[in-house]
Amino acid sequence: MQINILKNGELVRDTGILYFYRMLREIDEDNRIQPKLHRNHLSFEMPAEFDMKKALFTQIVTELYRAFVRDLIVEKLSDDLLNKLEVAPKEHLIELLEAAKVSPDKIKKIVAKSQKIYFPYLRNSGKFGANAGTVANFHQNLKELLQLFLDSLLKQREHLELYGEGSNCSVCQENTAPLYDITHKYAIETIEKMKPNKRIVRTDSKYLYTFKGSENNTFSNYGRVNQYSSVCFECEFFNLLFLLYVKVEKPQYLVMTDSLEITYLLQRKIQMKKNVYTTQAFYYQVAGLGRSSKVRLYRITTDANQGILLQTEEIIEYERLKVQLILMDLVDKFSFPDQLKNRNELINQLKKHILNDNYDGAYRLLLDNIGIDDETRLAHNYKLLGNFITETMNSLEIRRKETMMNEMKNRGKIYWHFGNSFSRIENKKNLGFRLTQLLRSDNRTRMHEDLLHLYFTTTEKGNDESFSNFPNWLAEDILCSSTKEYHYYVGQIIQGLLTVKKENKI
Ligand SMILES: [Zn+2]
Repeated sequence: MQINILKNGELVRDTGILYFYRMLREIDEDNRIQPKLHRNHLSFEMPAEFDMKKALFTQIVTELYRAFVRDLIVEKLSDDLLNKLEVAPKEHLIELLEAAKVSPDKIKKIVAKSQKIYFPYLRNSGKFGANAGTVANFHQNLKELLQLFLDSLLKQREHLELYGEGSNCSVCQENTAPLYDITHKYAIETIEKMKPNKRIVRTDSKYLYTFKGSENNTFSNYGRVNQYSSVCFECEFFNLLFLLYVKVEKPQYLVMTDSLEITYLLQRKIQMKKNVYTTQAFYYQVAGLGRSSKVRLYRITTDANQGILLQTEEIIEYERLKVQLILMDLVDKFSFPDQLKNRNELINQLKKHILNDNYDGAYRLLLDNIGIDDETRLAHNYKLLGNFITETMNSLEIRRKETMMNEMKNRGKIYWHFGNSFSRIENKKNLGFRLTQLLRSDNRTRMHEDLLHLYFTTTEKGNDESFSNFPNWLAEDILCSSTKEYHYYVGQIIQGLLTVKKENKI
C-alpha cells in the first residue's frame, strides 16, 4: 500500500517529514519501502509482513543513543574511544569503556546516564521526558505514538477513536486532534469506564508541542489558546523527529523551499557548508531538480526555558544560487600558473568570495593570478574572465541587463577583431602581458594611449581593411565605461591578439 504525506510549508513539520524520509531510507534494507521525495509530498510503500512500528522504534532509540554517545565528549574520553562507541551497539558500552581503561567511577557514572536516555529538549514531558518516571514508560508512550501515527496514515480508525475527537489540527489543518492524551498510567481501552477527573486530557502545552507560544517561533501565529490541544498525533510525531534532527545533526541553520526534495538537498548542503567543494556538488544536484523561487533560511538557537528557537535569517534567491554555481565552475576551469604553490587554498578562497557575493573580489583575485608566462593560457583565462563578467551582470534588473549585455557582447566582438588585427606582429606575446599589467594596475589612460599607439604604428596608412577595424567608441569605452565593461573589452582585445589571425569579417 502506498502512503503519501503532504508537506504544508510548516517548517517544523516539514523538517520532521524530511528526517522521517532519511529514517525510512535507513530501515529500507530490502528495498521494499522505497521512500521518495516529491515537490509537495513524501511517498513510500507500507510492505505487508513488515513491522514498521518496531523498525521505527528501534531506529529512534538507536539515534538517541548515538546522540548520547556524542555528548560524552564532556567526559573527556579519547576521540578514538568516542568513534568506537558511536558505531557499536549499546550492549558494548561497558566492554568498550573497560577496554579503553576508563576509571571504574567514570564508567559507573556513564552507565548510569546511559540508562536514562529520554527524548531531547522535552525534559519536563510526562510522556517522552524525565517526568515519565522511567525509560520503560517513555518507550511505552513512544510505541503508542508510533502506533497512532501509523494508524492515522493507514486510515485505521478503531484504536485512534479511543482517544476521542477534538478540533482540527492547527498545524496540518487536515487531521482531527484527539481529546485524550497518550499515557502509561492506564490502558486507553479503559477510558470510557474511568471517571472524567482521572482521564488525561490532551492539553495545549510545551510538552506536547515545543514551540507553541514561545518567542520567535514558527507557531506563535497558530497559538489557539484552548484547553484542548489542537495538534494531531501525526504532527506530534513529526515534531519529535524535528527535535531528534536538531539533536543529532546540531544544525545551525534550517532551510525551507517550496519543494520538499530541494529542501532536503539544501539542508544536506548547508550541513556541509564547511567544505566548499562538496557544497558545489550539492548546488548541482539542486540545480538539476528545477527551480524553486525562494529559499528561506532559519537560524536555530536553544534556550533552557523556551526550548528551540527559530529565527528567520535570510532569503536566498534561487537565481543567485545558480549564478554562484556557474562562477565556481569558471574558477575550476581557470588555468593557474604552474609555479603557484597554494593553488587549492586560492580556489577555496575564490569560492568563498563567490558564496559571500563578493564577485568583484573573486574577479580581482583571478586577474591577479592570470599567469602571464604562457600566451595560450592567457587567452584561455581571458575568455573565462569575460564569462565571469557577463555572468555577474545577471544581478542587474532583467530588462536593463538584456540591452546592456547585447550591446556589450556586440562591442566585445568588435574589440576581439581589433585585437586580432595585431595578431601578426612579432612581439604579440609581450604585448599581451603588458596590456594585462595595465589592466591590473587600473591605468586606463595608459591603456588608451598604448592601444592608439599600437594602432597607428602597426597599421599601414591607407589600408582600408585595417581602418575598418578601428572601434569608434575606443576612447569612451577605455576611459569612461564601467569597470566590468572596461575589463570585458580589454579581455576581448587580448584574446583576439593572441589568436591566430582570421579573415576578419565583422
Ligand atoms: Zn496535524
